[in-house]
Amino acid sequence: MQAVDIITKVESFIISIPREVPYLGPLREGEHINEKGYVIRKGNRTIYPTSDMSVLIRITGESGRVGWGETYGIVAPQAVKAIIDEVLGPAMIGRDPGNAVVIHEDLYDLMRVRGFFGGYYVDSLAGVDIAVWDLFAKGLNRPLHGVLGGMRHSTLPAYVSGLPKATLKERCDLAVAWVAKGFKGIKFAAAMSDDGIVREMAALREAVGPDIDLMVDLHWKFTSGQAIGLIRRLEAYNIYFAEAPCEPEDLEGQELVARGIGCPLALGEEWRTVFEYRPRFEHRCMSIIQPEMGHTGVTEFINIGRMANAFHVDTIPHAAIGLGIFMAASLHATASLKRVPYHEYQHSIFDHNLKFVTGNMACSEGYYSLPTGAGLGVEPQQNVFDYVIQ
Ligand code: MG
Repeated sequence: MQAVDIITKVESFIISIPREVPYLGPLREGEHINEKGYVIRKGNRTIYPTSDMSVLIRITGESGRVGWGETYGIVAPQAVKAIIDEVLGPAMIGRDPGNAVVIHEDLYDLMRVRGFFGGYYVDSLAGVDIAVWDLFAKGLNRPLHGVLGGMRHSTLPAYVSGLPKATLKERCDLAVAWVAKGFKGIKFAAAMSDDGIVREMAALREAVGPDIDLMVDLHWKFTSGQAIGLIRRLEAYNIYFAEAPCEPEDLEGQELVARGIGCPLALGEEWRTVFEYRPRFEHRCMSIIQPEMGHTGVTEFINIGRMANAFHVDTIPHAAIGLGIFMAASLHATASLKRVPYHEYQHSIFDHNLKFVTGNMACSEGYYSLPTGAGLGVEPQQNVFDYVIQ
């Protein structure tokens, strides 16, 4: 058994990697890139970066061993970096990474009474939490799943998320191309359905045939009444799940939709803690949850996933814009959970950014394969640091 490798240094890095085509596809009429490099998508009134933005965290132990983390830094990543550098990092110095859960709970408490139990604060906590777990698992020379209770799944089914093409015909062709590559699940983004959501669903079903799982992300655009009417029409095309129809604060609306439709409702990519999930489980607001590792970190992801199991709810994790570090953490944590029919696959991000990390993490023929090796099994390549911004 090796000696305790106490934490001696915590560092954070903002990374911005250019993309040829912005996330969610080419700019549409009325959309433009602002002076800070962001675009506001008219379809869902949400701001996105036009590069791949992320925040990396490096924690160094007394032995010189390094743990890596990453958090959600796609908009105003400077906020996350400041919280890590000023608040979380200094409070972690001298701690034993073997106490990862205790460290997480202690850091969560630091700003709790001031009302910082979500948003950028918990994103920052998620990133450092991943790094602590990586350092801990590396110290034991075990893969991350090996310290989370064990590997239940050695591969994970991946569903293709988003069809970033300008026209419905092109999106159908892209869906068919993914099916030909062996993928069995495809989700489209309603925010991009200029020809109508039901029409897009009908066209995709016609294109891919009856055996593919089709899903739609409704991007929080509808009232509960509108959502029930819309999703019932989509059910005619055998929809696998409908995602995020109502605004995230609308717990009662979520519950009404879940009770009023005949297909599974999937929710949760924007929630960070069990405290946000618990009332939704109790109200049966969804039958699929979509925790995002970049928001939750390992500790809370596992807490949420185990709580889902207690409510007989499936977990299909979200996959955000990132360099692959929190994706690796998400795959490890998901592999240790019981009810996981799929993991989201953001092909335009995951594949594009694999060249920036080490290891053998991959997604092909419809399945993710877990990275092997100690800890996360992936680390940033040196070339990532060519894209550090301030
Ligand atoms: Mg979504």
